[in-house]
Amino acid sequence: MSTHPEDREEGFIWLDGSLRPRSDASLPVLSHGLHYASTVFEGERAYRGAIFRSTEHSERLLRSARLLDFEIPYDAAALDAAKRAVVSANGFKSCYIRPIAWRGGETMAVAARQSSIHVAIAAWDWPSMFDVSEKMKGVRLDIAEYRRPDPRTAPCHAKASGLYMICTISKHAAERKGYADAMMLDWRGFVAECTGANIMFARDGVLHTPIADCFLDGITRRAIIDLARRRGIEVAERHIPPEELSGFDECFLCGTGAEVTPVSEIGPYRFMPGQVSRLLMEDYARLVNGG
Ligand code: PMP
Repeated sequence: MSTHPEDREEGFIWLDGSLRPRSDASLPVLSHGLHYASTVFEGERAYRGAIFRSTEHSERLLRSARLLDFEIPYDAAALDAAKRAVVSANGFKSCYIRPIAWRGGETMAVAARQSSIHVAIAAWDWPSMFDVSEKMKGVRLDIAEYRRPDPRTAPCHAKASGLYMICTISKHAAERKGYADAMMLDWRGFVAECTGANIMFARDGVLHTPIADCFLDGITRRAIIDLARRRGIEVAERHIPPEELSGFDECFLCGTGAEVTPVSEIGPYRFMPGQVSRLLMEDYARLVNGG
């Protein structure tokens, strides 16, 4: 059976307060969220029945909506409970969870302060990949042409659908060239992140990662920083010019979907997945599995 969510007909989606059969959970074409990208979302994973950092994700969804000037009509506890209900109604133990909130269609114009706010939560299979030996081969990344925008030009700390337009274009371009993904620079030209994950580097046992001042400060990124510090690994959050990439030994992506994914190549730069990536991959696997 396909694991693609769009190929699945069965199962349940939580929509505006109740669980519905998937086929009944649909959205009117005239929705502000669709036409004007007044849409925010989350990506989460459940491991062995427990949603990793569920409340942090719920709180980020609420904050993302406020950054887009709308208020979600549920609090974090209600969202947490709804996510648990979706996981269990679909019979999952480990899965990916996708909460999404958007403006409805009462006003089909730019200004829409009085619009209704909708929330849906879906879940689907997305196998976790902690096969260390396979992952240690590393993935190959291109360097994207688009850059993460200046905070003065977009609500860059929101996990907002509109901000993913340049991610999709950049990832498609990378895939067409045979790469797995693309690393994006920020508006100043510093290393930022990938199209759906944060990025970290290691050199001489020190972990280096860009300051999340114009892109998503991932929940996984913060977890990895904590895990590294607990291991006594020094963590340097700083601006990283791309020319510095030639001096790093290791590189890996981190995010809910990517978990910890070592990188072997970014454009002209080469890395050798090694001890720091391996240790943090193992620590993260233990953490999400309740260890
Ligand atoms: N950056 C982007 C653009 C992302 O889509 C994601 C995945 N949500 C991340 C970073 C990592 O965030 P998190 O660890 O909270 O999943």
